[in-house]
Formats: sequence, C-alpha cells, structure tokens
Amino acid sequence: MASSFPKYRSACPVPSPTRNTGRKAPASVTVASSARQRRSQNVEGDFYVDKRCIDCDTCRWMAPETFTRIDRQSAVSRQPSHGEERIKALQALLSCPTGSIHTEKPAKEILEVQMTFPLPVDEQKLPGIYLCGFHSEKSYGAAPYLIVHPDGNILVDSPRYTKKLADKIKILGGVRYMFLTHKDDVADHEEWSKHLNCKRILHSRDVEITTADVEMQLYGDGPWNIGTDFDLIHTPGHTEGSVCLYYKPLGVLFTGDHFAKSEESEFDIFAIYNKDSVSKQLDSVEKFLELDFKWILPGHGRRVEFRDMQEKNSAIEEFLLREAARA
Ligand SMILES: [Zn+2]
Repeated sequence: MASSFPKYRSACPVPSPTRNTGRKAPASVTVASSARQRRSQNVEGDFYVDKRCIDCDTCRWMAPETFTRIDRQSAVSRQPSHGEERIKALQALLSCPTGSIHTEKPAKEILEVQMTFPLPVDEQKLPGIYLCGFHSEKSYGAAPYLIVHPDGNILVDSPRYTKKLADKIKILGGVRYMFLTHKDDVADHEEWSKHLNCKRILHSRDVEITTADVEMQLYGDGPWNIGTDFDLIHTPGHTEGSVCLYYKPLGVLFTGDHFAKSEESEFDIFAIYNKDSVSKQLDSVEKFLELDFKWILPGHGRRVEFRDMQEKNSAIEEFLLREAARA
C-alpha cells in the first residue's frame, strides 16, 4: 500500500530560488537547475512539480484538483482552471517542504496568497484552528497548526520559519506555547521560540541535542494539561516521547505521526516509519477509545472527521482488530 508519509531521503535538499517564500537562494545554480527540472509526469501548462518532490502528500490534500501521485511522487494532473483552484495550488506551492512546485510564469498573486496563511481548517466547525502552511523539509513536510485561544495561543509542531508567517501569527495574538508532538517534527523550533518568545513543550524521551534547551520537558506517562481545555496524552510507539494534544472543547486530537488516515483513506500508524515499537503504538491507539473527540489533525497523513464518539470508537476498534489479525 502506498503511504502518505514522505520518503525519508538523506540527499541534501536544494533550496528553491523562488523569492518571497521564506527560502534562501540556492547554493549551487547547476545542481539547482537539474534538480528543479519538470517531471515528465506533469500535464502541460503553467504549474509543475520538479524532481526533488519527497512524496510528502501535502500538495495532494491541499489542492487535490491539481496534484496527484504518479510514480511515487507528486505531479500536476490537471492545471487549475479557475481562480479558487489557482489559489489552492499556490497555497500548496508555498507549503511544499522542498519548494518543488513551480509556475512557468511568475505568479502575480503570490504575495497575496502568502498572506492567506495561517489558513482556517474549518471556520464553522473548528473556529480558531489554523493550518500554518510553510511545511518544513526538516520535519519531512509535517503539517504545523496554530490554535488561537483566550489563555494564549499554541503552535503545534514547527512550520518553516518565515517572517511573514510570524508577523501574521503575531497579529493573531502570538504564541504562548509551542507544543512539539515528537522529535521528528521540531524543524525551526529555535527560530520560532526566539521570535515569538514562546515556551516549547516536548517529552523528555524525545529530547535530543538540538532540542536540549526546550523550556518544558514532559516526564513519565502523563496525562498533563495546559489550562483546562488541553490535555497532553502520552502515546508512545512511533517514538518513545510521542504525545497527542487533545483540545477538549472542540473535540480535536492533534496526533503528530502517531495516527491518521492514509492517502487511500485507511486508518494507519505508518508502521514502516516506526522508530520505537509497533505494539506500543497500537496500545497507544487504544487509549483513543476513552477520549471524546471528533477530529484528528495529524502531522503526516490525512485529517479525519467523525460524526460522533460512537463512529470514532467503531472505527478505532475495527482498526485494532485488523491490526491484531495481521500480527
Ligand atoms: Zn515522526
């Protein structure tokens, strides 16, 4: 089965020379030009994906009308046909962690589209929850979120540091806490902490040299909390220190790389990327049966909305039975 996770490539990425995207100019024009070549799988037209695509799936769920997975990488399968599709494709371009999406002609509205971030996830159902965009290759393209809350905003995992995004987040009230679901998705945490003066939270089991100075480490098995609205649920397995953020009033669980739907719409723990223990990860999924949530907003994989707790629990139970039968 194809995965929604990106390939964990070791090759050194070549930053895009595209201006106004928060990326630096390329170190080597020669390397950049060959890596930036249009994939032959793209249809003719303005938008295209280059050969550096890491198959992270971001563009495909952000602008499914335009991007498709072909031969284990993204490609433009249909050019945007009207304004709204074009904006979504440009939002995907700005969110692509490797800067692999391009337009043949400079996109005049790129600055305007940049200002649309952070993007509301669902204005009606999830007020105050935003997708930050600007996914970072350092986090393998994981989705970062912002929660606007009266007691202080929370940044969930790390976008690529971009001054324009930081300025927009400041307008929305800044960030009090930067909650890091686990060690893989920390990206530019230092930059964000420095510029927004936020306290970073990470489980001690996932602290590494680059995160040794986080302000708040979680110890033991929790649960912990941030005020009355947020519980932090220890869900070891993908990594020892994986933690989910449970936003109780809206029934949202931010799962990092612990649990999501795959691109093929199946529930998945993406076991091939497991860094600790698959059986532990499945035990951690079982904890979900006790939590009353309707939404899963993951770092990797597709988001999920359940009708209610009953549908959520049936789906989780079915998933666990399927996994048990497979073991
Ligand atoms: Zn991970």
